[in-house]
Amino acid sequence: MPVREYNPAACALPEDLRLYYLDVMGIQLWQPVDGRPDDDGPALSEDSGPTWEQLEQAVASCTRCGLHASRTQTVFGVGSHGAQLLIIGEAPGRDEDLQGEPFVGRAGQLLNAMLAAIGFRREQVYIANILKCRPPNNRDPGPEEAGACNQWLQRQIELLQPRVILALGRVAAQNLLSTDQSLGALRAGQHSYAGIPLVATYHPAYLLRKPIDKRKSWQDLKRVKWLLDGNGSRT
Ligand code: URA
Repeated sequence: MPVREYNPAACALPEDLRLYYLDVMGIQLWQPVDGRPDDDGPALSEDSGPTWEQLEQAVASCTRCGLHASRTQTVFGVGSHGAQLLIIGEAPGRDEDLQGEPFVGRAGQLLNAMLAAIGFRREQVYIANILKCRPPNNRDPGPEEAGACNQWLQRQIELLQPRVILALGRVAAQNLLSTDQSLGALRAGQHSYAGIPLVATYHPAYLLRKPIDKRKSWQDLKRVKWLLDGNGSRT
């Protein structure tokens, strides 16, 4: 016997007979509602991850690492959701843990002045940290804490899509760039995070202790401004 190829069109049954057989076989069909053509449900936006609001709620109840046990509250981040510049510090300190906002202590005041020097008010940028919870006694974040917290910051970056990231201090720069290079080496290099130009500079708390390095920090800030002015390119 000649072998015939399977041809679904040739096997098509009249629609009422097809529905009858399917019904007898116990197979339920999705029917268009209200006579509308096949309804695929609500259009999914391309980005179906959490919104800012959902993310902030998820962070507020996070127990992914041991720091949740000692925090007063999480410190999500603050600033404009349309910001072109994202500032990333290390972790909340005592003041931040109490107030729920990053960089509100003395280091925060210096950060505000640094931002003003390149023409920004605090509300015009977005400020976050590697960690959302305060490590006891302001110790450095542990790698498992930074790893557990990373997904929150990554989503913030996805939502924000900043043009430039400014990493404040060794801990922020090393974590973002997955390196153990010194801050001096990182300041000298050109970097990007997820294709976004990243500049590493001194942490304002360090600059309070060592004001002589403010000059070097000013060089870094000028580079940030230069990038924001459309120089350099996304990688
Ligand atoms: N230092 C940081 O790194 N982040 C803060 O929010 C405050 C101080």
